Amino acid sequence: MPEESYDCVVIGSGPGGYVAAIRAAQLEMKTAVVEKDRIGGRCLNYACIPAKAVLRVADVLSEVRDAGEFGIKVGEPEIDYQAVGARRKKVISTLTGGVSSLLKKNGVEVITASGALAGGGVVSAGDRRFEARTIVLATGSVKKPIPGTEFGGRVIGTEEAWALAELPATMAVVGAGASGAEIASAYARLGVEVLLFEALDRVLPTEDADISKLVERGLKRQGITIHLRTLVEGIESNETRVKFSHGSQSGEVEWLVIAAGRGPDVEGLGLDAAGVKLSEAGLIEVDGAMRTGAEGIYAIGDLVRGPALAHKASDEGVIAVEDAAGIQTHPIEYVDVPRATFCTPNVASFGLTEAEAREKGYDVVVGKVQYGAVGAGTVYGDRTGLVKIVGEKKYGELLGGHIVGAKATELIQELVNVRALEGGYPEVARTIHGHPTLSEAVMEAGRAADGWLIHG
Ligand SMILES: Cc1cc2nc3c(=O)[nH]c(=O)nc-3n(C[C@H](O)[C@H](O)[C@H](O)COP(=O)(O)OP(=O)(O)OC[C@H]3O[C@@H](n4cnc5c(N)ncnc54)[C@H](O)[C@@H]3O)c2cc1C
Repeated sequence: MPEESYDCVVIGSGPGGYVAAIRAAQLEMKTAVVEKDRIGGRCLNYACIPAKAVLRVADVLSEVRDAGEFGIKVGEPEIDYQAVGARRKKVISTLTGGVSSLLKKNGVEVITASGALAGGGVVSAGDRRFEARTIVLATGSVKKPIPGTEFGGRVIGTEEAWALAELPATMAVVGAGASGAEIASAYARLGVEVLLFEALDRVLPTEDADISKLVERGLKRQGITIHLRTLVEGIESNETRVKFSHGSQSGEVEWLVIAAGRGPDVEGLGLDAAGVKLSEAGLIEVDGAMRTGAEGIYAIGDLVRGPALAHKASDEGVIAVEDAAGIQTHPIEYVDVPRATFCTPNVASFGLTEAEAREKGYDVVVGKVQYGAVGAGTVYGDRTGLVKIVGEKKYGELLGGHIVGAKATELIQELVNVRALEGGYPEVARTIHGHPTLSEAVMEAGRAADGWLIHG
């Protein structure tokens, strides 16, 4: 017999699950979260947050090294990696503690156990059973080896890469997508000799080609050796080193990081028995309101289609429980979810690349402006950053935005917001921006697209 009855039980407390739970509680649903590991999910404990904490250290180190350009003389900085690890853990505990407080403040009960669907609106959590009118599956994703590789020994995934206890001398990173580029950029600047491998013909292969070009240049400047169109094969790991081949060459490093491929964490969730279906890609099938085919069961975050990003998971959590509460929701336009890569140079984008827009048959207009065109680029010391707007000529529609350079991950939001409010690049061009700010480069890119670039 179920020991308690809830309006909403969320399984998993990552950015999808905890946000869903808080929103459900706000909507006066009696809510519980079942978490088998740590509150905050993989995002806060092992992925996004530790990654950004270490990247921030690399950024500070780069600024110290570049201080001479600003007239500040400093000696060769020394890295205390124990202190770096301690700060990373402190950042994580501060944020996860914050999430626990928010859950408590909103009256969400936290159940520490492995959760599963037991059928008929019942959730099992360890040896306890709970009745739930609404169940939200938010169990995220786990690393998956790319074909021909397996984890073990010195072959690790991205989460382990951010938690290394000591700085190695050498590292190979397989996959130059967002995670691979971040790992390579952080560790290379911290003094590690980094080899970066990508099977496709450019780094950040899903970004706009112009952006990839600038990122490749930036990563090489950090001393990273990049091998494009290259498969890593024949991986052999022992206690201290990993050997592998790539093309006709061989390599040997202290750690080999596989930064490609993750899959939904559905093991033991009891999907079959509850009638929850998986797509061919192995993801849980949902409609625009995040409903699975099974009555009262929703799925969100890395379990479902769309970019595997924390903010996308959170938004889906809100949609799911609002739908359960009877509020009208609307499906996410996945292409317009902002995408951010926190390597140096910083990269962010949303919407279509120029190539994708052309392929879709739009009458494409492009506005490109370098940071050097506006005062702030020179003041802050980044003249090579680039803002690229991809638009549609007739109605001035913003089809995509692509930024590389300082604070790109912050700047992209303006373009996302303008599109969300049904504005186009002419509105970006005509909105007054503060001076001197890097956001003026975004405005100028709008003007470039609209045919009246002033600075540049
Ligand atoms: C290295 C790395 C860096 C990343 N950086 C970024 C970034 O900068 N920005 C960004 O937007 N995204 C980033 N991501 C992606 C982001 O981490 C995910 O998209 C996000 O965590 C998905 O959130 P979620 O709520 O779906 O799941 P998760 O964060 O994975 O949380 C799922 C939770 O469910 C729990 N769980 C699983 N099964 C059960 C069960 N049966 N019972 C109870 N609990 C269970 C897990 O323990 C976990 O705590 C990164 C990913 C990686 C790997």
